[in-house]
Amino acid sequence: MSFAKLIGNERNKQILQRLLSRGRIASTLIFAGPDGVGKRQFALTFAKAANCLHAPANGFATDSCDECAVCQRIDADAHGDVTTLRPDGQYIKIAQTRHLAEEVYTRPREGRQRFFIIDEAERLREEAANSLLKTLEEPPPTSTLILLTARPDALLQTIRSRAQRISFTALTIPEMETFLTVNYPRPKPDTQLIARVTGGRIGQATAIDLSVYRQARRTLIELLELLAGGQNRVRLLKAAEFLGKKEREEFEQELDLLTTLLRDLLLLASGQTPDAIVNIDAADRLQPLAAKIGLPRVLAWSEKFHELRHNLRININRQIALEAALLSLA
Ligand SMILES: [Zn+2]
Repeated sequence: MSFAKLIGNERNKQILQRLLSRGRIASTLIFAGPDGVGKRQFALTFAKAANCLHAPANGFATDSCDECAVCQRIDADAHGDVTTLRPDGQYIKIAQTRHLAEEVYTRPREGRQRFFIIDEAERLREEAANSLLKTLEEPPPTSTLILLTARPDALLQTIRSRAQRISFTALTIPEMETFLTVNYPRPKPDTQLIARVTGGRIGQATAIDLSVYRQARRTLIELLELLAGGQNRVRLLKAAEFLGKKEREEFEQELDLLTTLLRDLLLLASGQTPDAIVNIDAADRLQPLAAKIGLPRVLAWSEKFHELRHNLRININRQIALEAALLSLA
């Protein structure tokens, strides 16, 4: 994706394009910011622009064309001058950074500028970080290192002081909607929902399966409707059994979803318009539910649910904890 198509983090785009137009690319950059906000995409676009075949005679292109052979090969992770280093197991190990050091001092193989992208740079083991540090001291001008990290403070101070840091933030909801509309066109309610559910993180927005999300949501809204009705112990216990049997990761996702639904209900019960909620496409179902439950009860539920999540962290039997919580809410 070119800078022109990337949305959000506009200032960072300007910084990187300015480096390209000056024809002098900093040797070490740190892209810091939460997971899924586009750090890797920005690094790739930067590398593409610096090597794009559509460059002016004596300088770099300031954006990737995404159509020339070089741009396409970099996108396919098949270009000899753009390498990504990832943790081997839990850490980035010294053997990896030693190999990197040799590569950094080698001339570009086919393009103009070599890029070494280090993913999850906070996972550099200390000895690996120290070996990397030597590499950073005087890399040749044809090599650029980009360290991607969600935890810049976990990097060695000596590494941080040798690099130019660029901070990334999550996209706003309107930015995310624009990004999705341009790059992944879908019906508007789907775009609106994805922009809200994924909290401005592009990585999640491109990975989410909306049909799975909506199915899980339907089950949970039914559960909340059941709770609002105030009785039917048998069905509540069945719901607890159903949820409690899920695998841990899926179960956690359901709890996250339930947290979001409760927050939506809280907003609606306190008089906010549907625009303010995450599950904007389910407003016609959530609004009557919020009215039925009423603000005091939504508040009490949210509190109980918060407590439940805390208990689940220490309680091994999810089903029993859930049963107790659901019955106390009804
Ligand atoms: Zn190109």
